[in-house]
Amino acid sequence: MTPESRAGALLTIDLGAVVANWRLLRDRARPADCAAVLKADAYGLGAARVGPALAEAGCRWFFVAHLDEGLALKPLLPAGAILCVLNGLPPGAEAECEAAGLTPVLNSLPQLAAWSALARRLERRLPAVLQLDSGMSRLGLDAGETGRLAAEPALLDGVDLRLVMSHLACADDPSDPASEAQRHRFDADRARLPRAPASLANSPGIFLGPAFHLDLVRPGAALYGLAPARPNPMRPVVRLQGRVIRTHAVSAGQGVGYGLDWTATAPTRIATISVGYADGWLRSLGPRGAAWLGGTRLPLAGRVSMDLITLDVGALPEGALGPGDLVDLIGPMQDADAVAEAAGTIGYEVLTSLGARYARRYV
Ligand SMILES: *Cc1c(COP(=O)(O)O)cnc(C)c1O
Repeated sequence: MTPESRAGALLTIDLGAVVANWRLLRDRARPADCAAVLKADAYGLGAARVGPALAEAGCRWFFVAHLDEGLALKPLLPAGAILCVLNGLPPGAEAECEAAGLTPVLNSLPQLAAWSALARRLERRLPAVLQLDSGMSRLGLDAGETGRLAAEPALLDGVDLRLVMSHLACADDPSDPASEAQRHRFDADRARLPRAPASLANSPGIFLGPAFHLDLVRPGAALYGLAPARPNPMRPVVRLQGRVIRTHAVSAGQGVGYGLDWTATAPTRIATISVGYADGWLRSLGPRGAAWLGGTRLPLAGRVSMDLITLDVGALPEGALGPGDLVDLIGPMQDADAVAEAAGTIGYEVLTSLGARYARRYV
C-alpha cells in the first residue's frame, strides 16, 4: 500500500498554480520586481518545493523569517537568488549568515552595527536589506533611529544596501487610511538615507495600487491562493482530503464526540474522519465547520478531537460514503479562507497549521 492510499488525509499542492499566482502578481506589479515570501515553510506548503519552482519561473528575491529557514533553503535555490532573512540575525550569527550567502534584513541599529562590524573585519562590503518602521511598531528603525543613521552615515560602513523596506499593518482593508499614512512616512524616512531600491507591499498591499509597488513587492499569502482582495483573483493551490474510517447510524437524541456537545435531532448517519486538531484542523471550527463530498455539505457533528472529526452525513444517500473514501476539507467548495472564517481566524493560520501527518502530493 502506498503512503497516499493509507494516510488519514491527503494534501495536494498545485505548484503550477503557485507559479501562475506569482506570474499574475508580477504582471500586476510591473515594472516593480516580484519576490516570494517562503517563511514558515512556504506557509506550510513546503519551501523546498515552492522555492525552486518559483526560481525556475524567474523569481529572484526570496524572503524567510528565520536564519535556520534560510540556511535550509539556500542550497536549493540557484546561485543568483537573493534570500533575505526577515527577522534579521540573533547576536553572534552574522558570520554564519555571511558564509551561507544569505542577506539579513537589518531591523535595528544593533543589527546594523553587528553587520557593519563583520564587513569591516572581513574588509568586504556585505549585502543587506534595511527595514524602517513606517508605523506598525514591530520591526525596523523608527524615525529617531533613521534620523541618527542619516546624521551618521558611517554607521552604514561596509554595508551594501540592496533594499530599504517597510511593512503595512492594515493592507487587508483597502479603506483604512493607515496604509497611505505608512507610505508617506516610508517615503519621507527613506529620502533621508542613501538611495536604494524600496519595498513596501505584501499580498494585499499589491492591490492598493501602483503607488505601493515601488521597486519590489513581497507577496506570500496570495502565492498560496489566499485572497489578497475580493473577489479573489488567485488560483486555488491546496486541496485537503480526509479519509473516512467508518460510518454508522445514530438515533434521535444520541450525543456525538467529547462532551456529547452535539445531539442528533433526528436519525442520521455519522462519518468518522481521520483528521483532528493535531493535524491543524482547528478545534475552534466546532459546530461551524464542515466537509464536502462533491457539492454536498457535511457539517461537523460534535467537537474536533485530536485525531478525528465526526460529520453528519445524513444528507447523502446511504452507501454514498464508506471506509477509505475521501471527503474534501479544503477544496473546490471551501477554500482555506472559508475554513478560517468558520474557525474565527485567518487563512494564514489555517495554512501554516497544516499537519505533518498528511500524505503530501505535489502536482
Ligand atoms: C509575511 C510578510 C510578507 C508577506 O505577507 P503576505 O500578506 O503573506 O503577502 C511580506 N513582508 C513581510 C515583512 C512579512 O513579514
